[in-house]
Amino acid sequence: MKFDIPAGAAHILQTLTNAGYEAWLVGGCVRDLLRGVPPHDWDICTSARPEQTEACFAGHKIIETGLKHGTVTVVEGGEPYEITTYRTEGPYSDSRRPDFVRFVPDLKEDLARRDFTMNAVALGLDGTLQDPFGGAEDIQSGLIRCVGKPAHRFQEDGLRVMRALRFASVFRCRIEEQTAQAVHHSRAMLKRVAAERIHAELGKLLTGPAAGEVLRQYPDVLCVFWPQLGPLTAMEQNNPWHCWGGWEHTVRAVEAAPAQLTLRLAMLLHDIGKPSCRSTDNNGIDHFYGHPGLSAKMADRMLRALKFENSLRRRVVTLVEYHDVLLSAQDKTIRRWLGRLGPETFFQLLEVKRADILGQAPEKLGSRLDELAEIRARVEQMTAEGQCLTLKELAVNGRDIIAAGARPGPEVGRVLAALLDRVLDEEAPNQRAALLELARRELQRGR
Ligand code: ATP
Ligand code: MG
Repeated sequence: MKFDIPAGAAHILQTLTNAGYEAWLVGGCVRDLLRGVPPHDWDICTSARPEQTEACFAGHKIIETGLKHGTVTVVEGGEPYEITTYRTEGPYSDSRRPDFVRFVPDLKEDLARRDFTMNAVALGLDGTLQDPFGGAEDIQSGLIRCVGKPAHRFQEDGLRVMRALRFASVFRCRIEEQTAQAVHHSRAMLKRVAAERIHAELGKLLTGPAAGEVLRQYPDVLCVFWPQLGPLTAMEQNNPWHCWGGWEHTVRAVEAAPAQLTLRLAMLLHDIGKPSCRSTDNNGIDHFYGHPGLSAKMADRMLRALKFENSLRRRVVTLVEYHDVLLSAQDKTIRRWLGRLGPETFFQLLEVKRADILGQAPEKLGSRLDELAEIRARVEQMTAEGQCLTLKELAVNGRDIIAAGARPGPEVGRVLAALLDRVLDEEAPNQRAALLELARRELQRGR
């Protein structure tokens, strides 16, 4: 088979081969070539020891950060290439990283330490494929299968549990039966994996095209690091809006949201507080009063626990908190929400509400989607017209308010907020002179 290999990677393979060593493209990049999608990085493995690799690339920029694990990074044509000596791994006593690595003479041994058959493939410069575990066939039939005994491989490294789910979602693959059983059985190994590594995999999983299918089949895995999901995965809801249980509604809402991490996380967590807010009325209908507020609090804690970045966390929590608010296409209402959230978050809130509706009983959709579309169109128009929306766009600022007689400090914010309110309600024009006059009056009133 012939594949497109970039000049930089080809040069590295050729240099190592010319020096008498074996050298192969390996892992994810070969998998992607076999799937017919362009790889995003090119890993190389070689029979050369790290110091021998360094000697081969004496004139190049070399980064030594991975040296302990046998990896030399060579920069060629501005691109970094990781070149790793054939190796196996020692035991994972902390289930995070191997205690040691051992260099081995044989490519096959190196391939055997890799997680899934689809990732245990190597490609030579001449187009020779090394595939001792049937990876190409599994790629063809869309199967994720462990190299070796699944239970053993997940016991070695719990992160592989999440990698299996991530690949299933991103590549729309099935997890082979034995591997799938071991995923369920070994899921507790994830407790020993660092939060950052779990959240990186979870992010890819949630934005993958088969995220919904994976969430449906493996809620137990997510419950290991987010036990708060447990009650939701088991919750029925007797309510005319909902023909699905809590988890199926959540999964459908995730599927209906655009594949952006913020939105997908918001949908995954939007109803997380529902089980604790449930009450049943005399007609046997369930209500969940106050669930958005509780969901937001829980989401905040859950996202912190997995060490998601602060700005992402805050955005998700805001979306969860407001996912159930009543919006209307009235300019006044829209302006208030735009003022409170800013256009970017408000547009995301519209996406969240849309996904939430699409996750409910289809016969109850009614005109709710049309209403949202109307609101959206109006917001687009208002933002395009540059109507005054937030404090930033107000024709006066904090310094002006102080010049008008306010004491520096909270008073300034209070006056600015009052002015913005008046402008949003169209009771005052967004003009400097008029607003300064209003500010003076506001200051007199407040004293
Ligand atoms: P991506 O497309 O996200 O880069 P990848 O499979 O290439 O996916 P990397 O983290 O770049 O993931 O790893 C490169 C290769 O190293 C993998 O293809 C696999 O062969 C091996 N590998 C990575 N992580 C593990 C692991 N936890 N256990 C075993 N082998 C692993
Ligand atoms: Mg990779």
